[in-house]
Amino acid sequence: MMAQYLEIKGRHADALLFYRMGDFYEMFFDDAVAAAAALDIALTKRGLHLGEEIPMCGVPVHAAEGYLLTLIRKGFRVAIAEQMEDPAEAKKRGSKSVVKRDVVRLVTPGTLTEDALLEPRRHNYLACWADIRGEAALAWADISTGELRVMSCTGARLAPELARLGAREMVVPEDLAEGLRDLAADMGLALAERGRGSFDSAAGGKRLCALFGVQTLDGFGTFGRAEVSALGALVDYLDLTQKGRMPLLRPPVRESAGAAMQIDGATRRNLELTAALAGGREGSLLAAIDMSVTSGGARLLERRIAAPSCDLAVIRARLEAVAALVGDDLLRGDLRAALRVVPDIDRALSRLALDRGGPRDLAMLRAGLAQAGVLAGLMADDLPEALVTARRALVGHDEIAGLLSGALVEEPPLLARDGGFIAKGVDPDLDAARELRDEGRGVIARMQAEYIAETGIPSLKIKHNNVLGYFIETTATHAEKMLSAPFNEVFKHRQTTANQVRFTTVPLSEMETKILNAGARALEIELRIFGELKAAVLDSAAAIHGAARALAEVDVTAGFAELARVRDWARPLVDASRVFEVEAGRHPVVEAALARAGQPFVANSLDLEPGDKGAAIWLVTGPNMAGKSTFLRQNALIAILAQAGGYVPARSARIGLVEQVFSRVGASDDLARGRSTFMVEMVETAAIVNQAGPRAFVILDEIGRGTATYDGLSIAWAVLEHLHSVNRCRALFATHYHEMVGLADKLEGVENATVAVREWEGEVVFLHEVIKGAADRSYGVQVARLAGLPEAVIARAREVLGLLEQGDSGQKGAKALIDDLPLFAMAPPAPVRRVEAPKASAVEEKLRGVHPDALTPREALTLLYELRDML
Ligand code: ADP
Repeated sequence: MMAQYLEIKGRHADALLFYRMGDFYEMFFDDAVAAAAALDIALTKRGLHLGEEIPMCGVPVHAAEGYLLTLIRKGFRVAIAEQMEDPAEAKKRGSKSVVKRDVVRLVTPGTLTEDALLEPRRHNYLACWADIRGEAALAWADISTGELRVMSCTGARLAPELARLGAREMVVPEDLAEGLRDLAADMGLALAERGRGSFDSAAGGKRLCALFGVQTLDGFGTFGRAEVSALGALVDYLDLTQKGRMPLLRPPVRESAGAAMQIDGATRRNLELTAALAGGREGSLLAAIDMSVTSGGARLLERRIAAPSCDLAVIRARLEAVAALVGDDLLRGDLRAALRVVPDIDRALSRLALDRGGPRDLAMLRAGLAQAGVLAGLMADDLPEALVTARRALVGHDEIAGLLSGALVEEPPLLARDGGFIAKGVDPDLDAARELRDEGRGVIARMQAEYIAETGIPSLKIKHNNVLGYFIETTATHAEKMLSAPFNEVFKHRQTTANQVRFTTVPLSEMETKILNAGARALEIELRIFGELKAAVLDSAAAIHGAARALAEVDVTAGFAELARVRDWARPLVDASRVFEVEAGRHPVVEAALARAGQPFVANSLDLEPGDKGAAIWLVTGPNMAGKSTFLRQNALIAILAQAGGYVPARSARIGLVEQVFSRVGASDDLARGRSTFMVEMVETAAIVNQAGPRAFVILDEIGRGTATYDGLSIAWAVLEHLHSVNRCRALFATHYHEMVGLADKLEGVENATVAVREWEGEVVFLHEVIKGAADRSYGVQVARLAGLPEAVIARAREVLGLLEQGDSGQKGAKALIDDLPLFAMAPPAPVRRVEAPKASAVEEKLRGVHPDALTPREALTLLYELRDML
């Protein structure tokens, strides 16, 4: 057995090997050590190998999914080796013969299909990157839904595209793997390295043609060589991991690089589009706006938010559809109610294609297609184009839906091998077999009555278990009677337990064989019909996928409409201008958080109107905590929502098409990432300055904060000038460097704005209101006081500030200032404003004298009574 184990393991060196032994998957050697630690299960030993004990651990087969999930999450790949024959077969070959085993599947992060291992509302992408002499392409697939796409993608675009997809695993040529390791580690992406042979574009082309049963790929679009190479290597990898059982992939769709808004990884993180900075969906934009009621709808919404469109026609068509449902509460309500019972059609179909599906998946398709018809019936012909197109894909499934509903019982079991899922009347042979089986059961019930009469033992029973089959049972008190003449002629003894004796008779075992045969026959017929139904479903896979896609589309549209209605959002106007005008805009996530705390959100407007070739930038100043970041982000989110096809949180909005969104935050907000944060900040800023074009929308929040004041100020200054004069984009630039407000006078496209604060009795009050003009001062000292810095420090800070503001710091320099200022320690004690403490009450006086540790419980109780009496 060890020889067989080592042979299989040799072929899957880069994966943990789950080696099936009876009811367990066992792991040995280093695999066992690694898995035991990762799964927190016991490590044991077994036998000897080359004189050393073999470490071993195992997980029960029935609970394997949970363990698999943990291992995959921790970055392992798992090869599953099953027993390929009945152990009895092996015995026949000789007592020493080992059961045949082989790997039936390689489980990797990008190739999961089990519901338990997947998040229903998220895609699970496997990506593949290929380059052929300077031409590079990225292909990706979600095998749990069948989606397959490709785009040309240079090395520089790779990170942002992977960030958009949130891919879990990427197939790469082994010679490129080294250079991609940092990127992969950064994104939590597993790399699967494959030889160059697997990326051969000619072989890849053939593989794809064979997979889709076509002569040429031209019918699907025009693909470059690198694209074919990436698609081909991806399919090859699926073949390897699924061991030849190909998932049901739809023909490849080519995405052009400019079709979607360009948003890089740092921007996505920072704007918390699909995941919050703290990790997880909670607190993200997606979580705040997701009103979809189906898993397919949720996944489509995630795709839309991750890749808003740059095509005006597409955006308008989507908004048109949303508008129709905003205006029709009744229809929207009906559609959403009908969608609520739509199951996850894509994933059911994919499980069936991979031979991992059962009768319940067929039932899901039945329900889904029936619901598609219901939805189509609700939709009139005069709806906007996007909905009418969806409607067309929802109808025309009567044949397959009819087939399924005619064949299946109401609530079929999960597994085909359990039987009992084909309805009565579908197959006469099946009905006959079942009748025989059920009749047999009736006969047995009659037999029991006869035997009771015959023996005169009223407690005699006929029972069934898996070991003995049917047997007759009496209590031990009747044993002697049964074991002696004349009964011992008829009743053959089988077993004696503590309280019972068990027998069989010839007619009983004959009946049992009949029942068993009929049962086996029934199951055989059911499995055959299951196979036929599955084949019919897979034949119509393309149309069923189309219906699933249309259901998702309706769900997203109705969800957006519901959102607009419930939160009173506005339909944005997206056009070819470069205007960015938002009236009374809000931040959907901050607003919701404040609402939970019972606080109002102050809506704020923005209008950027660049000249022909000019930039339009607002320089936003104001103290910390005033609401600068919130304002910046809400506007980026509004652009993203609008181009994703949704309404926006504002009274009105006009957005000139945005093709790139960039967002950066000053280093100190980003400490969690634990690198040289200033370096990271500068690298990211460089990326913007190098990439932002005239259709970019940039938000920069306190850039330069991660270094010394003058460095920071000069960097912020230079970046702003560059954005204005070279990039000429639309931008919001938040800073607390007041020195910069003067730039507005010099640069035509820069305007000052500030978040209003009021000073009241020496304290700041945040109004969160963004107004044009410069803030007169930073209020940093007041904020410090709010934060609880001691009065002495605050007073001293005021003193330093006063001198700094008076002094002509430009000429004298900081050093001179420092020389002028007496040192803190030597300064006369600042007149600390003492707050008159109210006189302590008697209760307080008493409490102050108490030492809780010195009290017994009884004394404590007595004290409590005393204290109360003092009130
Ligand atoms: P800054 O970037 O100026 O330091 P933030 O944008 O981080 O400030 O906002 C600080 C806090 O102020 C937010 O967490 C929020 O609670 C509140 N806030 C911000 N903007 C608004 C607003 N428009 N209306 C109400 N409260 C706001």
